[in-house]
Amino acid sequence: MKKRKGKTLTTGFGMPVDNDLDSLTAGPHGPILMQDMHLMEKLAHFDRERIPERVVHAKGAGAHGYFEVTGDVTTYTRARFLSEVGKRTEVFARFSTVGGAKGSADSERDPRGFAIKFYTEDGNYDMVGNNTPVFFIRDPLKFPDFIHTQKRHPGTNLKDANMFWDFLSLTPESIHQVTILFSDRGTPRTFRHMNGYSSHTYMWYNAKGQYSWVKLHFKTQQGIENFSGPEADHMRGVDPDCATRDLHEAIARGDFPVWRLEVQIMTPEQAREYRFDPFDITKVWPHADVPPIEVGRMVLNRNPDNYFAEVEQAAFSPGNFVPGVGPSPDKLLQGRLFSYHDTHRHRLGSNYHLLPINAPKACKMDSYQRDGAMRFDDNGGSGPNYWPNSYNAAAPDPATAPPAVDVSGMAARHQYASGDIDFVQAGALYRDVMTDTDREHLIDNIVGHLKNACEPLQRRQSALFWKADPEYGQRVAKGLGLNVKEVEDLAAMSQEERVAATPIQ
Ligand code: NDP
Repeated sequence: MKKRKGKTLTTGFGMPVDNDLDSLTAGPHGPILMQDMHLMEKLAHFDRERIPERVVHAKGAGAHGYFEVTGDVTTYTRARFLSEVGKRTEVFARFSTVGGAKGSADSERDPRGFAIKFYTEDGNYDMVGNNTPVFFIRDPLKFPDFIHTQKRHPGTNLKDANMFWDFLSLTPESIHQVTILFSDRGTPRTFRHMNGYSSHTYMWYNAKGQYSWVKLHFKTQQGIENFSGPEADHMRGVDPDCATRDLHEAIARGDFPVWRLEVQIMTPEQAREYRFDPFDITKVWPHADVPPIEVGRMVLNRNPDNYFAEVEQAAFSPGNFVPGVGPSPDKLLQGRLFSYHDTHRHRLGSNYHLLPINAPKACKMDSYQRDGAMRFDDNGGSGPNYWPNSYNAAAPDPATAPPAVDVSGMAARHQYASGDIDFVQAGALYRDVMTDTDREHLIDNIVGHLKNACEPLQRRQSALFWKADPEYGQRVAKGLGLNVKEVEDLAAMSQEERVAATPIQ
């Protein structure tokens, strides 16, 4: 066969390949010879194409773009990427569903991941949030259990309404997020038509070392658009990749999605006196208490060239900070600070930070970390690999230190004693924010799912909706055909009494 004009196909090691259609055999019908190294290499690499999928947020889509500062926040943070109105920083964003496997449908009812990597001159800052301002749990010790209940039954490998609602009804602090999840915001129409929230509280600190607590809100400029429950169900069959497709096609046609970044800022003094724990991720800071301030806008304007290299290998961590931004005592955040780097080391290897999508772009990485699997840069060359050293090599800069923060207390497994305040914001959302149509869809969506759980769980969970708002609980109970008085009685009990009154065995 004649060679086609142009580039020559090679093996992974650069040797020209003479034939990529016919294996090396002993005679035309004979067995294949092991010395066909091109075949061996090709098969062996194919066998290893899959890397572990993310245990959560496995199905996702991403795009490149920029962040531009539109509001002066230098009073609050020294972060250089926020230092000047008009300043632009390159970003990469990834959106995802949470519980589903890599091949699952984009229209599933689920929170959506909303992760942004800012390639700043002080290193990469990651904002790893969701399209919801709150979360189901506030202690990371509960996270693996919670996720197990959202995935498949260990015996049947089926989604299981009993495990789903058993855990949630035993975890009353989830009621706010459950109310958002079962509203139509639980099935966004596209990734472009949803907001993104840091959900956690973070620290911002300025050049004088003064700090504040902040929550970030990325508000979609495309407008909020959601599927109704039946539309989302239908879309699972029609186009399981609808949101991935929408993002790619919008950017390809030049219709670049934009989000406005707003920040809520609380002083340490306000936080100390606030009427509930401002670091509790099951609660928002009401806008009337802490009005949002405009910071900037994010524009996504370039599709990835290669999905695996840029989206699958993208590794975000809420622990990737830059000077001016830091963690808060939010317990769930503290657990995530550990988990993200840990999972990427498992998924991608110890040198995952060197992959082009994860490496800093606006500054040079210069650390004394060396070796490890797949080290593919010069590994620090012949320079020193230890600190302190007496050479003209990289040295820590004390001027970048975050402010000292006072933490103290008895080391113990302290139980969170928030009580009925956990129901207040779910009730406010149901009563004061939702429209009649929102409420109608919410009830239909809950009833359509909760009816698949056993009857005691239906009663236990309906009582929690009742505690958020009596009408809310009553409508769910009626939709499920439950005895409304029984649910009202359950709502009046303590959580321990309620659980004891609704055994499921
Ligand atoms: P506000 O009236 O000032 O804010 C209400 C917020 O609710 C807006 O940000 C709006 O977002 C959002 N929203 C509107 N419809 C829905 C819906 N169907 N599902 C979820 N969110 C919706 O009130 P408060 O700040 O006092 O908050 C009241 C309740 O609103 C909270 O308990 C919480 O459930 C919800 N909420 C509050 C947020 C906050 O940070 N304070 C953020 C998001 C929700 P948009 O403008 O994008 O429509």
